[in-house]
Amino acid sequence: MAVPEGEISDALQVLRRVFGYDAFREGQGEIIEHVVAGNDALVLMPTGGGKSLCYQIPALVRKGVGVVISPLIALMQDQVDALRNAGVRAGFLNSTQDLDERRVVEAQFVAGELDLLYLAPERLKVASTVQLLDRGDIALFAIDEAHCVAQWGHDFRPDYLLLSGLHERWPDVPRIALTATATQATRTEIASRLNLEQARHFVASFDRPNIQYRIEPKNEPKRQLLHLLRTEHSGDAGIVYCLSRNSVEKIAEFLTANGIEAVPYHAGLDPRTRAENQSRFLREDGLVVVATIAFGMGIDKPDVRFVAHLDLPKSVEGYYQETGRAGRDGLPSTAWLAYGLNDVVNLRKMIDTSEGDAAHRRRLSVHLDAMLALCETVECRRVQLLNYFGQDGEPCGNCDTCLTPPESWDGTIAAQKLLSAIVRLDRERRQKFGAGHVIDILTGKKNAKVIQFDHDALSVFGVGSELRDTEWRGVVRQLLAQGLLAVESNYGALVLTDTSPEVLKGARKVMLRREPEPTKAAKAAKTAKERKAPVDLPSEAMPVFERLRTWRAAQAKDQGVPAYVIFHDATLREIATAMPSSLTELGKISGVGENKLAKYGNQVLETLTPA
Ligand code: ADP
Ligand code: ZN
Repeated sequence: MAVPEGEISDALQVLRRVFGYDAFREGQGEIIEHVVAGNDALVLMPTGGGKSLCYQIPALVRKGVGVVISPLIALMQDQVDALRNAGVRAGFLNSTQDLDERRVVEAQFVAGELDLLYLAPERLKVASTVQLLDRGDIALFAIDEAHCVAQWGHDFRPDYLLLSGLHERWPDVPRIALTATATQATRTEIASRLNLEQARHFVASFDRPNIQYRIEPKNEPKRQLLHLLRTEHSGDAGIVYCLSRNSVEKIAEFLTANGIEAVPYHAGLDPRTRAENQSRFLREDGLVVVATIAFGMGIDKPDVRFVAHLDLPKSVEGYYQETGRAGRDGLPSTAWLAYGLNDVVNLRKMIDTSEGDAAHRRRLSVHLDAMLALCETVECRRVQLLNYFGQDGEPCGNCDTCLTPPESWDGTIAAQKLLSAIVRLDRERRQKFGAGHVIDILTGKKNAKVIQFDHDALSVFGVGSELRDTEWRGVVRQLLAQGLLAVESNYGALVLTDTSPEVLKGARKVMLRREPEPTKAAKAAKTAKERKAPVDLPSEAMPVFERLRTWRAAQAKDQGVPAYVIFHDATLREIATAMPSSLTELGKISGVGENKLAKYGNQVLETLTPA
C-alpha cells in the first residue's frame, strides 16, 4: 500500500485490517468520518450498496459499543457470526434467546467487551433494556431498515416509533439511520419521526448496474419461469416472489417436480420449517426459495443470481428492495417480473377492500399506479426507477426496453372499441363484466357465456378481430395503467373513469406499447447476458476454485454458518487467479482481513497446491 500507515485514517485502517477491503465504496468514507466525529446521519443507499460498514466501522473506531437496532431477528445470529469471523466482538439481544444467553450478552455489554450489540426494536419497550443501555458505554446508535418507521412506506413496524425516544434519552450518542428505500416522501417521514431533520443526509446513487431489469406480460407464468431458470440460471441461487401462500407452495412444488431444487417460505409455515428453509438458502449453493414478501429483508447472501416476481409488487419501493437482493457481489444478475391483467384486478380489489381509512387506500393506490407505470413504460426501466427515487440516469443498455425497444402504436381506435363495448354492456343489462368477457366480445368469440347473454347481437361483437387476445389484454392493462379504465372491486368488472369519455369523444389520443413477441425478447436478453458475463475464471484456475469451495463448505458446515461468512465467492475467485504463495500475498486479496488470514491462511495456501 502506497500510503504510510501513519497518514491514513483510523477508519481506513479498520477497513483494511478487519474487513480486508482496500478502499471505501462511493459514499462510505464520508459517512463514516461524519459518524466517527460524533454526528447524526441519515443514509440512503441501495440494497447491496454497503450500508453495514457505515456503522460497523464507526463502532470500532469510537469508544464504547455500537448499538444496532434491527427488525431482522432471524438474521442476527448470522450477522454476529459473520462479524466474529472477521474478529469483531459482536452479540445480540432478542426474543429467541433464553434468560441465560441474554445474561451473558448483557454482562459483556456492561463490561465493555463488545464492539457491536444487535437489538430488536421491541426490546426497547422493556424498562430493563433501557436500564441496561444506561449502564454501558454507547459508541453510536445505528437504526437499520429505517424505513420501517414510515407509514408512507411499505414496511411499517409500530415498534420503530419507539426509536424517536433515543435522542432524548441519550442526547450525546450519535445516531445513524440507514435504509434502501428512499422516495422523497419516505425520506421526509423517516427524518421527522426519528428527529433527524438536522442530521446530514447522505444519498448514494440508487443504480445497481449489474442487475438486468426485465418485465414481461404474464401468459403462462410457470412455463415462462421455468424457461428463465433453465436457459439463463441453471444451478443458480435465486428468489421467486409470489403474492399468496398458496401460489408459493404450488410454484415450489412445480419447480421441484421439474428438477429445480426449491423450498417454500411464507408466514403460514411453522416457524421451524421456515427457519430451516431460510437457513438452507443461505448455506447451500444454488437453492431457489419461493416466497411471499415476508422473505428476504436483511438477507445478505451475496450471490443471489436472480429475483423473479410472478405477481405484481404493490409498490416500486417494494419492487426495488426485493430485486435489490440479487447480485450484491456485483456480478451480473437478473430481475425478472411477469405481470398480467389479473394482477391489476386483484391488487385493485385488495386496495378497495383493505382496512384503514381513505387516506391509506389512496396511498396504496398511488403506489400501485407508479408500479404500473414502470411496467408499461417504453423508456429505459432503470431511468424510470432512478427517477422514481429522484435521481437521473441515462438509458442503460441492460434492461429489456433498452435491449429490445418496444414500439409504440396509436391505440386510440382500439381504446374506443374497448370503452364502447363496456358502455354497451353497461346499458344492455345492469350487469358488469370482466376483461375476459369483454375481449371475447371484441374478438367475436361465440362461447357459452356470450351466447347466454346474447352478446353476439351487440354492435361491437367482433369489431376487434384485428388484435390477438394477448394484444387486447395489453390494451386493457395499459388503459388501466393510464387511468382511462378502472376495475370495480366486487367482481373485477371493467368500468369507465372520469377521463374515459375524452377518449370516446376522440378528444384524446392513446399511445400504447406493442406487446413484444416473447421469443424475441428472451433472445435479446440472453445475448446481453453473454456480453455482460463476468470475466470467467481462466480454465487453469477452475479446479483451484472448486477445491477452495469444497474447503469452504467443510469449514462452514463445521461452524454452522453460511459459506459466505467464511469468504465470498469473489474472494475465492481472486485467490484462485492470483495463486498467492505466502500469507503476506494472501493478505492482500480483497476480503481477507487480519483475523481471517490468521485463522484460515495456512489452510487456504495448502488447498492451493494439490495433494
Ligand atoms: P447493504 O446493507 O447496503 O445492502 P452490505 O453492507 O451488506 O450492503 O454490503 C454489500 C456487500 O458489499 C457485502 O458483501 C460487503 O461485504 C461488500 N462491501 C461493502 N463495502 C465494501 C468495500 N468498501 N469494499 C469491498 N466490498 C464491500
Ligand atoms: Zn435500460
